[in-house]
Amino acid sequence: MRVTEGGVELEVPGEQTEGIEESVFYNPRQELNRDLTIATLRAFRKREGRAGSYLDAMAASGIRGVRAAADDWRVTCCDVNEEAVDLARRNLERNGIENASVEHRNVNALMHENMFDVIDLDPYGTPMPFADAAFSRCRDLVCVTATDTAPLCGAHFNSGVRSYGAHPQNTEYHTEMGVRILLSALARSAARFDVGIEPILTHATSHYVRTYLELDRKATAADASLEQLGHLSHCEDCLHRETEFGLVADPLDVCPNCGSERLLVAGPVWLGPYRDREFVTAVREEIPYTFGTAPKARALLETIAAELDEPMYYDQHKLCKNWGLPANAMDEFLADLRAAGYDASESHYGGTTFKSDASVGEIRAATEDNLV
Ligand SMILES: [Zn+2]
Repeated sequence: MRVTEGGVELEVPGEQTEGIEESVFYNPRQELNRDLTIATLRAFRKREGRAGSYLDAMAASGIRGVRAAADDWRVTCCDVNEEAVDLARRNLERNGIENASVEHRNVNALMHENMFDVIDLDPYGTPMPFADAAFSRCRDLVCVTATDTAPLCGAHFNSGVRSYGAHPQNTEYHTEMGVRILLSALARSAARFDVGIEPILTHATSHYVRTYLELDRKATAADASLEQLGHLSHCEDCLHRETEFGLVADPLDVCPNCGSERLLVAGPVWLGPYRDREFVTAVREEIPYTFGTAPKARALLETIAAELDEPMYYDQHKLCKNWGLPANAMDEFLADLRAAGYDASESHYGGTTFKSDASVGEIRAATEDNLV
């Protein structure tokens, strides 16, 4: 089957599944992720002028590599699967691309032997088996996709503990839990090599987390990254949550809002910002209307740019249900919070989620008069 995406054309072996043609080497649902990757690479090149080489560490059809090479990155595509390697070679040729090579190798070995300015990890499942090699040898930017959202958010608890060396909790903000568990594990991986990370763009759905980490290769930067880690206490009864920085946990014993002792503790989680507002705005400028997901990608970036940094998002319907009150329109709800002097924003996690610096008790006091 033939696929056109972002101005390049690819041939991928197709299979008929329930009348729809699909390919294990090309996932059309990831087009948004790839459009954002290309726009991020464009914005990053303006931020860090020396960046020129790009490793597509799990090439599959080579689509990301082909698109990056068409943007003048010096691309290396790598895959352990021989069929994928042949396919990536053919797709580079088909597009007349000369500034790219294809490696049939274990990518951890390749990364240990070569430096790259940008490394893109897009594995099926957890990226952690590749993180150490990436941080040890990457100069500027590590891009990471994690598709194992059930382990990340605590739904598959033991698997999450094994992969990420952290204690997740499956709460109503499970998607953001996954983001902050992943960033915590990546920060600790980078720190082993005296590398600090700054997440300049992160977005997540219930199917995957994607983050772009700008690196600062010095020990003090690694220390600063680790200082962004901490723990979160969550009350199962009133949904109050509190965070505290530090690798040593000192969780709450009693909920300060309702007195309950039914508290969940998660950590270490990343408590710092997971996007650079100016950079996100710059990425948005790099999305041309010709990209297949342009309207969706731009809207997503606009929401992320405006989203508050506070961990974790609230779910308005879940709060209202807990209070036994009907939910009202989100814009009215947020307006009530702002009128009471709190910061409030929509969140890119969708549905009825929002962010605020107000606590559960403060949110109720600010909004309940209009929940009728
Ligand atoms: Zn409580």
